[in-house]
Amino acid sequence: MWWKRKTDEPNAPAAPPQAPEPALEPRSAEPAAPVATTPEPVEAPADPAVEEKKRGFWAKTWEVLNTPVFTIEAPALDRALEKTKAGFVARIKKLQNRWTKIDEEMLEELEEILLESDVGLAVAEGAIAHVRALHKKGEVNPQNLNDVLEAYLRDQLGQTEPLVLQPGVLNIVMLVGVNGVGKTTTLGKLAKRYQFEGKRVLIAAADTFRAAAIDQLVVWAERASVDVIRHQEGGDAAAVVFDAIRAARARQADVLLVDTAGRLHNKANLMAELEKIGRILAKEAPDAPTERLLVLDATTGQNGLRQAEVFQEATKLTGVILTKLDGTAKGGVIFGIRRQLQLPVKLVGLGEKIDDLKDFDAGLFVETLFSEAASQETPVSQP
Ligand code: GDP
Repeated sequence: MWWKRKTDEPNAPAAPPQAPEPALEPRSAEPAAPVATTPEPVEAPADPAVEEKKRGFWAKTWEVLNTPVFTIEAPALDRALEKTKAGFVARIKKLQNRWTKIDEEMLEELEEILLESDVGLAVAEGAIAHVRALHKKGEVNPQNLNDVLEAYLRDQLGQTEPLVLQPGVLNIVMLVGVNGVGKTTTLGKLAKRYQFEGKRVLIAAADTFRAAAIDQLVVWAERASVDVIRHQEGGDAAAVVFDAIRAARARQADVLLVDTAGRLHNKANLMAELEKIGRILAKEAPDAPTERLLVLDATTGQNGLRQAEVFQEATKLTGVILTKLDGTAKGGVIFGIRRQLQLPVKLVGLGEKIDDLKDFDAGLFVETLFSEAASQETPVSQP
């Protein structure tokens, strides 16, 4: 596959130049010296004009077929949403077929379907109130109920707000979230994506709580040919971020990706650590465009949203990455995120492969959710 290509192959994306390690200021309070892992030395790319001539038709075709796609595509999204569609939109369609008029009993059933799809109480109640209000005005009936709901839910998602890096400056993207949500995997996917796009990427392994987390991150970094700034297990996470910012500046990196701990001994420790990292970011990189993204696991539905409160208290979040949207029936949780957390979803995870992390597109999401394909093919167990 494309990410396994050797860097000396003609079609390989340009590797970031490897700058020498920056001089790091010794700080006596630190428990461990910083260690940077350096991937295999990368040869300078050959003359592009000469290389282009050498490439044949098949080589070019191979390259196109293996170029990862980071924008979300309707068929892939449709496949990922299959279970959500079966438990949600397909049930609403059945409801439409069974009822000849809208009444309180039907609205009760509708609310139940919405709640079971994990959209959350606020969105479910809001949708019912909306349908009731339109019904009073004679503007909704069982036939157009689907369209009314689609428009309401589309509204809940607000504008699409993708993750955009500012050119020519150091961008910082920090990921927070509990263990197991897919933080490290997501960070690895982002590293590979930016590296593929020709950006200079550096990773800060600021989850110093678990040695396994650092090791896992190093594996992802090696796959992406990206350096990791790390300390030893148990080190000060904020000190890792401090060193990483210095290193990123010295190397003129375009983006610094920061992994953080998902669980400490208790909530107070977790908050204190995130607040300390926040202070370092504010002091050392006050002008750097900074994203603080909460990684949420879609399969946990509304429970996942409750975890978000802790992170919202500790750090000013700028958005959400919703992972594992593939294969869950709880995709409706996406509507609750905007409403309950007041945060935009910026990226979604549709699988474990390196290019399964996609830019979120609110319009396409709702359109696909309400489209026919998967919901008609999937047997529905509910009445
Ligand atoms: P962390 O503890 O938050 O760092 O979580 P990890 O990155 O270790 O991921 C936990 C598991 O979730 C791993 O098995 C990942 O492969 C899996 N995972 C992450 N993102 C996705 C996704 O979008 N879809 C699926 N199906 N699995 C995912």
